[in-house]
Amino acid sequence: MIANYTIPPKTYFEIASLGYLLVLYLISFRDKNRGSFRSYKLFRYLEVIMLLALLVSILTYTFANPELGTPLSVCTLLRTMDSIMCVMASRIFAVYLMEYVDSEGRLKKVSIIGNILFFSYLILMIINLPLKFILWYTPEGTYMHGPLFVPIVFTAPVYYLTSGILMLIFRLKTLGPREKVALSIASIVTLFGTVIQAATNGIILLSLPFGSIGIFVLYFSIETSDYHQLLKNNESLRLAEQDAIKANRAKSDFLASMSHEIRTPLNAVLGMDELILLETDKMKDIDPMFTDRIKEYAENIQDAGQVLLSVINDILDLTKIESGKMELKPAPYRLHDLINDVGTMVRVRAEQKGLSYVQKVDPAIPDHLFGDELRIRQIMINLLNNAVKYTDSGKVEMDITMKDPAENSLTLGIRVSDTGIGIKEEDIPSIFGDFQRLDEEHNHKIEGTGLGLSIVKRMTGLMNGDINVTSRYGEGSVFTVSIPQKICSESYETGSGSEKRGKLADVITYHTPDCRYLVVDDNRLNLLVAKRFLDGLCGQIDTARSGEEALQKMRQEKYDLIFMDHMMPDLDGVRTYEMSLNDPANINIKTPFIMMTANALSGVREEYLDKGFSDYISKPIEIKELLRVVELHLPAEKIVTLNL
Ligand code: ADP
Repeated sequence: MIANYTIPPKTYFEIASLGYLLVLYLISFRDKNRGSFRSYKLFRYLEVIMLLALLVSILTYTFANPELGTPLSVCTLLRTMDSIMCVMASRIFAVYLMEYVDSEGRLKKVSIIGNILFFSYLILMIINLPLKFILWYTPEGTYMHGPLFVPIVFTAPVYYLTSGILMLIFRLKTLGPREKVALSIASIVTLFGTVIQAATNGIILLSLPFGSIGIFVLYFSIETSDYHQLLKNNESLRLAEQDAIKANRAKSDFLASMSHEIRTPLNAVLGMDELILLETDKMKDIDPMFTDRIKEYAENIQDAGQVLLSVINDILDLTKIESGKMELKPAPYRLHDLINDVGTMVRVRAEQKGLSYVQKVDPAIPDHLFGDELRIRQIMINLLNNAVKYTDSGKVEMDITMKDPAENSLTLGIRVSDTGIGIKEEDIPSIFGDFQRLDEEHNHKIEGTGLGLSIVKRMTGLMNGDINVTSRYGEGSVFTVSIPQKICSESYETGSGSEKRGKLADVITYHTPDCRYLVVDDNRLNLLVAKRFLDGLCGQIDTARSGEEALQKMRQEKYDLIFMDHMMPDLDGVRTYEMSLNDPANINIKTPFIMMTANALSGVREEYLDKGFSDYISKPIEIKELLRVVELHLPAEKIVTLNL
């Protein structure tokens, strides 16, 4: 009988698949320690099931033949096993797909239906053994299919594969490009084979061979160890990037709060110093020698304080730019005013050092421009200050030119050159880094933080401009900045860009004799400074050293304006304001509250306004800002304009 044994031609594809799948299994065998890639574990599982399914299928089509003498019960068992293995393979394929497209487990329902289907299918196949309604052998040895054969044997695999493909389609966006292609090809090829096999009623055995092709595609695209290594590396890079972002944020927060903490006492120091300057002016006639000395000391304190303030402002600027909070405030401005202002300031410094300062402006540049004047001023001053700082003899020059003039825009060229110490060629690439100071052995006597150029570079970038530097060591340097600006029509009234911080008496333009102010601050010196500024307005000024004291005063007196510090122990400024609103005894419910704090980060103004404050003043207090706010929030009849 066994002499009749032949391998049926329809299993040829399966035999070939078995061969190459075995090779694939052996190749992938060496990669077993690939960490925790769950998809890979399922993949290995899929490989094994597919190999077994192929083996059972080949055995079935070769030996499930009564003519070969195989007992009918064994033939039925082989046929049953064959169909179970096919369904299992497609089930695992679907689970594998699900692992990729649904790692958060959102599509659990689809999986539960799949399990129910699989167990129902198993039960039906077992019941079929005695009841013979799906597949069976007649006593004469003829293999029979019942009408339920195709629906039962093929429904489950087709369900698994189509639900897998649908999941893929719906969640395609969550996959990387490589996964998209590999998973789509693998599932379409497998489904194709299964459908052809069902359509031909099993005459062509394509379901498993096509499934094996799918496995091949999967292995060489997304399951190789080097691809997994790449994924792992990407993941650790992502985590490292997250850590770096967190650490950077922590650094920015630290710098922001440190500079806030430093600005508060510095505000007091500069404010008190300004008071000393004012008082000494008044006492000039009594003892000029003594007052001159005091004045000189006070001016030195003022200079050093301003330097310290500018360092803190640099740090604040840097943290603002880094955290994306630096806002540009474009407005109309007059270029010539700006250049003159900057020029006057730098000329004094240059001349003090015995340098000549030359300024050239292309006369064709329109005077009325639209842009962030403050930032452009900062860029010019930074570059010019450096040029003066790093030049011992010769000259410093600023050339303002225009590029790409159009009807409404132009590119402003700022070229700052000097005949100073120059920069070594190898230092040039790192010159714009944070806290980068170069050539320290020559520069150690020159004050600096190494932040100026970094800020200039970032600000230029914010304004869509760029900056370049050329230098010859020992001969001098040239910094060139280009910034696109809009051109404004001449009718625009430009802002007060050229105004300088004035002395109290010079700048007060009105009095408010009928007004009563409340200033709340836990810091005695800050209170004194604010009080002194407000004194200039000739109103009545009350002070409170805590939130509680302020609440009490608000119950007793009606104020026209209340100035509130934010950071105070126990009750902070915001909490005090909120409590005052809910205090039935408070007679200042309608009084405007002005937040007066050293918290100078960009965006805080809006935060305070959102909380209900009428305005915001940052410390150190600028008298002009104080005047603006007071004028804005007091009724016009309470303001007496001075005839200066
Ligand atoms: P710093 O506060 O140290 O001046 P900057 O960021 O402004 O910081 O400059 C960084 C470094 O670049 C300086 O320490 C200096 O070595 C070099 N540098 C900047 N401008 C010039 C210049 N005009 N000539 C020579 N060296 C310069």
